[in-house]
Amino acid sequence: MSADGVFRTRSLGVAAVGLPDQYADGKAAKVWQLYIGDTQSRTQEYKSWVVSLLKKQGVQKILDVACGTGIDSIMLVEEGFNMVSVDASDKMLKYALKARWERRKEAAFDQWVIEEANWLTLAEDVQKPGDGFDAVICLGNSFAHLPDFKGGILIIDHRNYDYILETGRAPQGKNIYYKSDLTQDISTSVLWVNNKPHMITLDYTIQVPQADVQNLPEVSKFRLSYYPHRLESFKSLLSEAFSGKMEHSVYGDFKTYTPGQTQAPCYFIHVCKKTA
Ligand code: SAH
Repeated sequence: MSADGVFRTRSLGVAAVGLPDQYADGKAAKVWQLYIGDTQSRTQEYKSWVVSLLKKQGVQKILDVACGTGIDSIMLVEEGFNMVSVDASDKMLKYALKARWERRKEAAFDQWVIEEANWLTLAEDVQKPGDGFDAVICLGNSFAHLPDFKGGILIIDHRNYDYILETGRAPQGKNIYYKSDLTQDISTSVLWVNNKPHMITLDYTIQVPQADVQNLPEVSKFRLSYYPHRLESFKSLLSEAFSGKMEHSVYGDFKTYTPGQTQAPCYFIHVCKKTA
């Protein structure tokens, strides 16, 4: 499957290329850690779900294509998976590299591969092991894609943009990815072009404790723009990427999802398994 294909079909070239730049000044990377809050309590939300899914599929080698600060990769290294973690932002990767360095005496961490890579040049940036990766993960609303692989699974997620487009705000349930108890606010705006939602901009504001020590303003703001994938069109995108040869399931916040359920999930997680 070509990374190229997806970016072309969703005609999102600009947003896709522009994304990593939004992380370029390192501000988002710093504040991202604050958003996540306690990493253990974040990964606890889905660790057993992800780990048992991966183990059931006999997965060993995993590519995390948007590892960011490394939170999910660290969880998977600790669980004994063979991880290659990449991200386009060196600012985000700095945190992952630091974690690896601090735990370098543990064999699993010593073997953890971290590289800078962009989805648009993934095939050149990432050295694919001889027989490919067993699974690719792309979590935390990162929208990614993966190079050719045989028989693996893809776990990919995105925010519940259907809900955001219908109501103008994110679902009120607790956010599985942001566990911080710091006062935070995310304001949402939608850019429509020709009667179609074109871009969603989230303005993140967070109260930073001991801001001076962290060299951040007390109220820290940053802005990220996303393409508002609707559930149905994202499903088609995946189906197209797999040429229809896949088993596909959708989860809401890592739980069984029933369309129309009372509590709208904040995130949709797609699990695709390539079939022959
Ligand atoms: N998965 C992590 C990080 C989510 S933040 C978590 O859940 O915490 C989204 C990440 O996507 C950022 O680290 C950003 O640098 C990365 N990203 C955005 N566009 C990218 C691209 N074109 N190629 C590679 N990584 C990209």
